[in-house]
Amino acid sequence: MTAERDGAPDRPDGSDRPAPVLAELYQELILEHYKRPRNKGELEDADVEMHLMNTSCGDEVRLQLRLEGGVIRDARHMGNGCSISQASVSMMSDLLKGKTIPESIELAQRFTDMMHGDPVAAREKRMGALRALAGVSQYPVRVKCALLGWDALLQALKKIGGEEEEEHGTGGSEGRDR
Ligand code: ZN
Repeated sequence: MTAERDGAPDRPDGSDRPAPVLAELYQELILEHYKRPRNKGELEDADVEMHLMNTSCGDEVRLQLRLEGGVIRDARHMGNGCSISQASVSMMSDLLKGKTIPESIELAQRFTDMMHGDPVAAREKRMGALRALAGVSQYPVRVKCALLGWDALLQALKKIGGEEEEEHGTGGSEGRDR
């Protein structure tokens, strides 16, 4: 009797790349976020805002965050650009809600790792829909597009971190840490 393979396509090489069917699904997911971006629009009570451009492609992202006790409660974005940049920021805005600042920074780091070709990051469950962008790492020019929203995030968090440090003086009034 011949051992039957379970219909998996032969992939003698490049085993880190998604199988053709998965690649297609990923492509669809990117387009879906591009056409119907999540959390797009203005946030009226934003605590911080960051506007960044990727001139090499013409992408633009304006990211707004609302935080509460160190947790991101809302994330909105505006701007336009290629499907990679817009899908990336759309997926990011979904994932950020409910995350603490350190968690958000870690996510940004893992996403950056993935963009630099880290195959482990590309398989992590917490990356959610972002895994669809793993293939972008093969196109160095597009990596900038994918990272634009995340750069905006990191700069926004830096800005807010600086402001918070100023607030937490050694003054004797009651702290409002929770
Ligand atoms: Zn782009």
